Amino acid sequence: MRYYNTNNPSETVTLEEAIFKGMATDGGLYMPERIVRMPQPFVNNMAGMTLPDIGFALANFALQGDVPPNVLHDIVDDTLNFPIPLRQMGDNRYVLELFHGPTMAFKDVGARFMARLMAHFTRQRPGRRVNVIVPTSGDTGSAVANGFAHVRGVHVYVLYPRDGVSYVQEAQFASLGGNVTALEVNGSFDDCKQLAEQAFRDPELNRQLTLTSATTINVARLLPQTFYYFWAYAQLLQRGHAGKPLVVAVPCANLGNLASGLMARAMGLPITRFVSVENENNIFYNYVCTGQFTPRPSVTSIAPALDAGNPTNFARVTALLGDVEQVRQVVHARSYTDTDILDTIAHVFGEHQYLLDPQSAIAWRGLADDLQPGETGITLATAHPAKFSATVEAATGRPVDMPLQLVRFLQGTRHVTPLNNGYTALRKFLLSDNDR
Ligand SMILES: *Cc1c(COP(=O)(O)O)cnc(C)c1O
Repeated sequence: MRYYNTNNPSETVTLEEAIFKGMATDGGLYMPERIVRMPQPFVNNMAGMTLPDIGFALANFALQGDVPPNVLHDIVDDTLNFPIPLRQMGDNRYVLELFHGPTMAFKDVGARFMARLMAHFTRQRPGRRVNVIVPTSGDTGSAVANGFAHVRGVHVYVLYPRDGVSYVQEAQFASLGGNVTALEVNGSFDDCKQLAEQAFRDPELNRQLTLTSATTINVARLLPQTFYYFWAYAQLLQRGHAGKPLVVAVPCANLGNLASGLMARAMGLPITRFVSVENENNIFYNYVCTGQFTPRPSVTSIAPALDAGNPTNFARVTALLGDVEQVRQVVHARSYTDTDILDTIAHVFGEHQYLLDPQSAIAWRGLADDLQPGETGITLATAHPAKFSATVEAATGRPVDMPLQLVRFLQGTRHVTPLNNGYTALRKFLLSDNDR
């Protein structure tokens, strides 16, 4: 399978090149030339399959032999070694809990798969050192760092805003050590993104070092995120609830999760529509309303994982769907305020004794406002509520239990390198660190 550049579709690369380049030189994203449709009998008969079985079948079809099946089998098994429960919340509503991985956020699925796929290609080139640069507002950095921890031949540099990530999030990447370096940037998340992009576009630096991106810029993160959409449908089949039109609500920032959902639909999964739900950083919502895509600086909210001002995967969404008219037929866009988030967390806790984190609460609210009678709705719950305990406690008035998995990170020693002088400092640091 070849992968094309969304800015210049006649330029294509192999899977390995797409993964290690991350982004095309002109800033375009890579997309598979063809979305392989799963055979209908497969989709209809997933009820008894396990999550790794489904993941392997999808990956093996989609990658078209670019990774040997036995290797792919191990990668999928190793990626999906935690549960993804589908909880029923009333007659026609479900929550898909995507947060039982190592860092308790949905990004674990994509990050672990990508790390293992990169490790596979790295093993074939002894002596190569790959430098993964990952700007983060919290969850991406921790998921990617944990996905790559102890993977040989790969070094991860996490770029994060000094005052922009929570204490738990920082612990999740800064306490790993080894092949993970935490670089604390004196600036915002957008500054971190910019620094990373400057490094990817620096021809001289790229001649000396192999740099790659591990954000959802990287096409390797999209495929594994299709697995849980199929898995959710398999669970509905198993419970005999799969007949009605299916609507999935996705809390959106860089639109990677939504792009994966659209890819799952293109692969033959019967999803009637998506509800893309944003906070006040509602760039995509404005696009769906007006047809104009206008990035702007992000503002901070109590759903910080959604604070993105320039959604990276927008080009993939339009590559999958077409123009704004076509987008509107498949995606209903919604946007909510911080007050809506607090109200929703409190309301859902009151009604269902169920705790939602702020991001998932936004998705819940979007689904509640969009779902029509006779439809089945799924809310994607993207983080464990304890990762955002202050907000969740403020909304419900009750303390949130900290899972052991998060406590362990908090107990680790943090290793942080401050980065104060913008791109010059980053460049110098990368070169000297690679020289050691
Ligand atoms: C990253 C993240 C999102 C947004 O996902 P995108 O793919 O960037 O749209 C939503 N919720 C949580 C908890 C996240 O960490």
